[in-house]
Amino acid sequence: MPKIHLLSSRLANQIAAGEVVERPASVAKEVLENSLDAGATRVEIDVEAGGAKLIRIRDNGSGIPAEDMGLALARHATSKIASLEDLESVGSLGFRGEALASIGSVSRLTLTSNANAQGSEGSSAACEGRDMAVQLKPAPHPRGTTVEVRDLFFNTPARRKFLRTEKTEFNHLEEVVKRLALSRFDVAFTLRHNGRVVHNLNAASQQAECQRRVAAICGPAFMEQAIAIDAAVPPYRLSGWVGLPTFSRSQADLQYFFVNGRVIRDRLVAHAVKQAYRDVLYHGRHPAFVLYLELDPAQVDVNVHPTKHEVRFRDSRAVHSFIFSSLHRALADVRPGQPSGPGAPAPELLPGGDGMAIDTVTGEIQRQSALAWGAPETARASASGGGFGRSLTPGAVGDQMRGYARLHGLQEAAPEEVPPLGYALAQLKGIYILAENAHGMVLVDMHAAHERITYERLKAARDDSGIRSQPLLVPQSVAVSQREVQVAVHHAELFQRLGLAVEEAGEESLVIRQIPVILRDSNIEQLLRDVLADLIEFGSSERIESHMDEILSTMACHGSVRANRRLTIPEMNALLRDMEETERSGQCNHGRPTWVQMGLDELDKLFLRGR
Ligand code: ADP
Ligand code: MG
Repeated sequence: MPKIHLLSSRLANQIAAGEVVERPASVAKEVLENSLDAGATRVEIDVEAGGAKLIRIRDNGSGIPAEDMGLALARHATSKIASLEDLESVGSLGFRGEALASIGSVSRLTLTSNANAQGSEGSSAACEGRDMAVQLKPAPHPRGTTVEVRDLFFNTPARRKFLRTEKTEFNHLEEVVKRLALSRFDVAFTLRHNGRVVHNLNAASQQAECQRRVAAICGPAFMEQAIAIDAAVPPYRLSGWVGLPTFSRSQADLQYFFVNGRVIRDRLVAHAVKQAYRDVLYHGRHPAFVLYLELDPAQVDVNVHPTKHEVRFRDSRAVHSFIFSSLHRALADVRPGQPSGPGAPAPELLPGGDGMAIDTVTGEIQRQSALAWGAPETARASASGGGFGRSLTPGAVGDQMRGYARLHGLQEAAPEEVPPLGYALAQLKGIYILAENAHGMVLVDMHAAHERITYERLKAARDDSGIRSQPLLVPQSVAVSQREVQVAVHHAELFQRLGLAVEEAGEESLVIRQIPVILRDSNIEQLLRDVLADLIEFGSSERIESHMDEILSTMACHGSVRANRRLTIPEMNALLRDMEETERSGQCNHGRPTWVQMGLDELDKLFLRGR
């Protein structure tokens, strides 16, 4: 072996760059985070050739004093932390002091900055991968900083080869900008690619402006079919928007989760969200969400990974259960007219403490969603141009109702007297119920709706009367690890509650003596293994409930009204009232919508009325 020697600073930086600078998008992320850390309120991003040729980011932040310019490009040089205590409560996005040094070692980097509030004098420093010596010279620049990164990986051909097409690289970069734009509504972002403006996002402070930004980034369909969330159980707060179960995606591509303003990807969080959607999402579909978790910075370690995409929570189980229960509650309320459908009183944030406080920052948006509940994407799309959901405020509901009453010579009814799903008029082709409510026409898929109602009843009956279990004729032993035995013993009560008797039978073996009757045909050993794996990783598991629910769901499907059954008007009305009462009734057990609303204005549009 050759003798040990110190690496040159260039090589050390290039090695560090391997972790931080994977592609143009990672350059953009680091440089933009610096701008946000510097308090910028406006950033402009210019990209050429997907970022491989040029990434130029200009901000109006605090700037860098001339005497610090050289250091800014040096490794392990930062203005953001000075001690270990600082690291434990770090509020800035960056703190490792290695981004600029790393980027500079694999590109041609120019940093131009001015820290003076007045005047346009500034200075610039340039470094070119090859020689890390920084050249400083005066350069005019308004207050703020411009970082120009040219020819990424020009001196590391092996890495350059890993770059994909211009389009792919730009998509990644755009995704970075979107995430940061979702994390900082107060900052204006402009993104240009090859001279063309791709995003121009103004700073947003009002709720409506924030919603507009989310719509610009996630698409208007998401915003129209999202429920606003704002739940607080000190020391945690979760806010943002989650897509209705009927607005699901084939890929997990519309999922943004921020922890104290930092976008993260985390298995624990993903699991909690997935679990919350378990009972309402079509199999294999993915929920869409933009969620913000806030907690004391000391409760979360962000220094887990160089790109800081992962975090570690001090009390990960509490975080898991908080996210799960907040979303679960909100999704259970997805049913016609609840919780803040038209005419509902404005919700108030309950004081924190042991109780769950679910509420909306925006009563308005929940109201919109109440109207869109159950509406499939296509039906919504037809309500283009501002459409039904968006323009309908409680006042407008009243107006529309009065207009409707006038039109039909009906007695004016107060909005609260008409139930959310209205009254049945007829049955269509033995499949749909046609009803009339305050806003216009309602169509209900009677089988889908009945299935959900039956299912929720079966679950409620099980929860009320407890799970019936039966002893196994021959107890089943299961070989597991020592750790799994400990976990099983520790959670004995959980198993008992679910009707399962699981006991320790040796250092590495468990024995199942009793199982729930409903699971008698299931692979109980596999279920037990999966539950233990969940318990080890997340501290909780809903697999047994989930499996029981699946069986109940099948039973519900078989026991529900089939198509082509004639229902009387009172039977139909009873079904509508049941839907309004039943949790999760906005979608059937398979995640399909159970009802659609067509407002008068949508109908008018069909007939070109009022043009
Ligand atoms: P870190 O962000 O971890 O501190 P960087 O290498 O990204 O490390 O940046 C080094 C230092 O350069 C920062 O700590 C900051 O003081 C300064 N700096 C970088 N970019 C900017 C900017 N856009 N505005 C003001 N200061 C900046
Ligand atoms: Mg940085």
